[in-house]
Amino acid sequence: AAKNTGKGRVAEFDPDMRTRASRRTSMQQELAEAVELGQIEAHFQPIIDLQTLRPTTLEALARWRPDGRRQVPAEEFIAVAEETGTIADIGRAVLRSACRETRGWRALPGHGELSVAVNVSMQQVLSGRLTADVEEALADSGLPAGALVLEITESAALEDSDRVAAEISGLRASGVRIAVDDFGAGYSSLSCLMRLPADLLKIDRTLLDFVTTRDGSLVKAVAELGRTLGLLVVVEGVETSDHLARAREAACDAAQGFHFSRPLAPVDVPAYLAGWSAPRTAGQGAGTARG
Ligand code: C2E
Ligand code: MG
Ligand code: MG
Ligand code: MG
Repeated sequence: AAKNTGKGRVAEFDPDMRTRASRRTSMQQELAEAVELGQIEAHFQPIIDLQTLRPTTLEALARWRPDGRRQVPAEEFIAVAEETGTIADIGRAVLRSACRETRGWRALPGHGELSVAVNVSMQQVLSGRLTADVEEALADSGLPAGALVLEITESAALEDSDRVAAEISGLRASGVRIAVDDFGAGYSSLSCLMRLPADLLKIDRTLLDFVTTRDGSLVKAVAELGRTLGLLVVVEGVETSDHLARAREAACDAAQGFHFSRPLAPVDVPAYLAGWSAPRTAGQGAGTARG
């Protein structure tokens, strides 16, 4: 039985905590098994170029549906995977599938330049294995390095910023592009942003809802910051036409969100892309005669 050593200590033996802890332990075990069995899949969410309104990139997002049960939210199992170290295996599986699928979709008419964005955990960057994993995934799939974007979220682990910057510079030199993910949320800071060699800035969706009284949105200010640093700016979480108007007003280069499309199962991607395959030239509209 638990020793009650005094007021306030009893909390350690709170049955709720025990339930939560054991649920977490069983999730860790199940997740490790699922990874081993190749049951983690990638879904793909379009990122839309705001000049052309065409999807130019797909973001690969890990999905896990344990046998006969509902899908576990990515945030939940990714957090568990970060704790146990399984994240490296999940990341590798998603990277391989993203490269292979995208290589195939680039054969669809009108999508020869399609890119794919893959999330990588700071643990993967610091592991020293990321470069080899990326090279292998590109070589095995035949996807060119220029069609791969790695999305990195800044974290407390960025203390070791010299090592991170060196690893990332090497990848960029090979043609892979780097995006700073979720900027404006969590641990992201201006000093981290300036130390990370990057190509793209992804503005966190929470910023879309901040509107300042004087001159538009916080997204506009952060987009300007991104451009000042020479980065292409993508805004995440565009759910409504108001959000889209704000993204345009901020002159963001690209946008992603439920307003355009939810993440898609790989089997649904070709039909989605086919909606954009016809080049939209003048004279193609209904009832318009050419010449
Ligand atoms: P993220 O990289 O910022 O990915 C975008 C998340 O926003 C996705 O959640 C996506 O489904 C969601 N989203 C997209 N559009 C909208 C929108 O309009 N409104 C709202 N409310 N949400 C939107 P998801 O798939 O649940 O993933 C959550 C996070 O888990 C990701 O955030 C990423 O940090 C992490 N994650 C997912 N897959 C991987 C992976 O393969 N490796 C690593 N390291 N992390 C991953
Ligand atoms: Mg991301
Ligand atoms: Mg993220
Ligand atoms: Mg994000």
